[in-house]
Amino acid sequence: SKALGGHQVHVYNDAMRQSNLEQLHLEQELRLALEGQQLAVHFQPKLDLATQRISGVEALARWHHPDMGWIPPSAFIPLAERTGLIHQLGSWVLEAACAQAAHWFEQGYSIQVAVNIAAQQIESGQLVHEVDQLLNQHGLPAQLLQLELTESTLMEDVEASVSEMQRLRQRGVSLAIDDFGTGYSSLSYLQRFPLDLLKIDRSFLQTQQTSHQQGTLTQAIIALGHGLGLKVVAEGVEYADQLEALRGLGCDYVQGYLISRPLAAEQLQPLLVEKADR
Ligand code: C2E
Ligand code: CA
Ligand code: CA
Ligand code: CA
Repeated sequence: SKALGGHQVHVYNDAMRQSNLEQLHLEQELRLALEGQQLAVHFQPKLDLATQRISGVEALARWHHPDMGWIPPSAFIPLAERTGLIHQLGSWVLEAACAQAAHWFEQGYSIQVAVNIAAQQIESGQLVHEVDQLLNQHGLPAQLLQLELTESTLMEDVEASVSEMQRLRQRGVSLAIDDFGTGYSSLSYLQRFPLDLLKIDRSFLQTQQTSHQQGTLTQAIIALGHGLGLKVVAEGVEYADQLEALRGLGCDYVQGYLISRPLAAEQLQPLLVEKADR
C-alpha cells in the first residue's frame, strides 16, 4: 500500500503541475489584459421597491480574452486575489465605475454605483486616498459611490476594517455588506461595522417559492437588517413571485435577472431613461 501511496502522490503532483501551469498562463494573460483593452465593467440595476425606480447599479468586472472569449469573474477574481493583481484590477474597476457614475451624474441622473472591494484593497490602507482622488477628479458626489464588502473581507482584520469604513463613511461614501448569510461573521460584529445596506445572498432566494423555511430565513435577515437601521437588498431575483414575496416582507431593493442582467453602460441606457430619476 506504500507503493500505491507513492504512485498516487506522483499522479497528484502531475495533476498539480498541470494546473499550476494553467494558472501561471492565466496569470500572465490577466497581466496583459490589465495593460491592454480586454477588461470592461458591466452594470446591473437595483430596483427600489418603494418607488419602482432604478436607484443604483452594481459594477461587475468583465474580461473578454481575444482567444478564450469571456472569462467569468469566478475564474479571474480569485486568481487576482492570489497573485496580488487584485490591487491593480480593483483600482481599474473603481476608476471605471467612478467615471461612469460621474457621466450619469452629468446627464442629470441620480444613480448610485456600487463597487466590489476585495480584502487586500482594504488592507492596503490606500483605499480612502484612492476614493478621495477619484471623487475629486471626476467631480462625483460621495453619496453616489457605494462600496460592497463581504463578511469574510471584513472579518480578516476587524479593527482595520472598522477604521477604514469610518473614514469612508465620514466622506459620505455608502457601505454595503455583500453576500450576507454566507460568511462566518458573528452577529455581534455586524453592529460594529458602520454600514448602510445589507445584501441578502442569492442562495437564500433560490428555493423561495417552494421552501417555507427559506422564506423564514429571508424574513429574519430583513428584520435583522432593519433592526440595525440598514436598508436591505435581495440579490439574484429571477421571478416575479420572488419579487412580490420580498415586497411583502418589506425588502427595500431587489437586484437580479428579472430586472436586468449586468450590461455595458450603453446597453443599460434605455432602461435608465425609462426607470431612473433625473
Ligand atoms: P457578487 O458581488 O455577489 O455579484 C453578483 C453576481 O450575481 C454577479 O456575478 C451577477 O452577474 C450575478 N447575478 C446577478 N443577478 C443574478 C440572477 O438573477 N441570477 C443569477 N444566477 N446570478 C445573478 P458575476 O458578475 O459573475 O460576479 C461574480 C462575483 O465576482 C461577484 O459576486 C463578486 O464577488 C466578484 N466580482 C465581480 N466583479 C468584481 C470586482 O470588480 N471586484 C471584486 N473584488 N470582485 C468582483
Ligand atoms: Ca457584490
Ligand atoms: Ca453578492
Ligand atoms: Ca456572491
